[in-house]
Amino acid sequence: MARLILLLPSLALALVAPARPLVRTTTRLSPLQAETVKEVKLKQAPNLESPPVDSSKQAPKVNGGIVIGLRKLAVVTGASSGLGLYGALSLAKRGDYYVILACRNVERAERVAKEMGFPANSYTVLKCELGSFQSVRDFVFNLRAFKGPRPLDALVCNAAVYLPADPKPRFTEDGYEMSMGVNHLGHFLMTQLLLPDLQKAKGARCVIVGSITGNSNTIGGGLVYPRADLGDLSGLKAGPGAEMADGKPFFGAKAYKDSKVCNMMTVQEMHRRFNAKTGITFSSLYPGCIAETGLFREKRGWFRSIFPVFMKYVTGGYVSETEAGDRLAQTVWDPVAAKSGVYWSWNGNAQQVGLYDPSSGSVKGAGGSGGEIFENAYSASTKDESTAAAMYEASMAACGLGELSQKRAGGSLDGEQ
Ligand code: NDP
Repeated sequence: MARLILLLPSLALALVAPARPLVRTTTRLSPLQAETVKEVKLKQAPNLESPPVDSSKQAPKVNGGIVIGLRKLAVVTGASSGLGLYGALSLAKRGDYYVILACRNVERAERVAKEMGFPANSYTVLKCELGSFQSVRDFVFNLRAFKGPRPLDALVCNAAVYLPADPKPRFTEDGYEMSMGVNHLGHFLMTQLLLPDLQKAKGARCVIVGSITGNSNTIGGGLVYPRADLGDLSGLKAGPGAEMADGKPFFGAKAYKDSKVCNMMTVQEMHRRFNAKTGITFSSLYPGCIAETGLFREKRGWFRSIFPVFMKYVTGGYVSETEAGDRLAQTVWDPVAAKSGVYWSWNGNAQQVGLYDPSSGSVKGAGGSGGEIFENAYSASTKDESTAAAMYEASMAACGLGELSQKRAGGSLDGEQ
């Protein structure tokens, strides 16, 4: 019990509300959000497995052009649970998006999508194991076979693993530490390969989910040990076998934070390199603390039960999966979020402690729900342009795209044909 009391404040601080808004914009409620600003019943984060890397191939599906019709096309990675699942559902329910659920476990994703009531003919599951460069390439091949020459309107890089309890590193198929490999490098490769498909769309968006835990100007990212720090990038530059980006020994909680810093740096670097040339919007977001998702799957049962309650009623940083999904979808469809290079957040009720309301007999006024979308500030460490450029080049090399990087530096924006 004493351990629990000591641990919770630090975990809570790691995930509390974003910094104050720089720019305020009007909130627009999507069809789902309108239903969900009501009180939600808290549940426990699922006890999911973190399975080994499975890069088996899927036979390509075709004729997507006919199925998709006049709708826009969006890809969401990690759409089999949590933020990605609810974000993809929110987009699919709008009616003007056809959604590709890019998931490592196709069977599970198909089952979950049915259970969640995705509208008929609004989605297709395509296999994508982010812990394997070959699987990412196979996904891109299958996506192109499915969609044909039509453009890709949105790419949402959402999937992630968080492995704070691992004493030793796990590695991807290509030999990279798992959090960095899945959260950053797998998505980095996918983004690079799909750049030409995005470029073909008018007003295309590439959204990479960030986190305050990678942001050193917040309590969660800056004060809670360990801090994200890419150091001299010697680990990332060293290639397969390195345990951490900075070349130091493995530290699971820091590896997640480092990968999130890379996610947020990638958005800014891609914005600087490609926004003016391609018109693609590159953005990141912090959706709030979604304390019930599978991200906390490695945590023990007592943690998964108490964490949502604590985040909702004590720190006020909690947001439901449904509302967080609406927030993710908003960065894809809302004209307000068309601005590139931005790190979006929502100014909900976070940091407000819940109060018992005797008239209703319930706790009210807590939770990071509601509020308006705003342009949050990147932390100085994620804004460091020279580290971002070095991280970008090291990531291109890690993904086997060194030559493409040179071609692009020479002005060509072609993909790797
Ligand atoms: P979940 O664990 O619920 O979802 C993670 C998704 O990623 C799952 O669909 C999972 O697939 C998928 N995934 C994991 N590993 C791989 C892999 N190797 N290849 C392909 N897909 C994989 O977590 P969340 O929904 O909470 O997290 C989603 C995003 O939100 C992450 O980027 C996270 O950093 C971010 N975030 C979350 C916060 C929170 O409070 N939860 C706060 C801030 C940011 P499967 O179903 O097969 O396991």
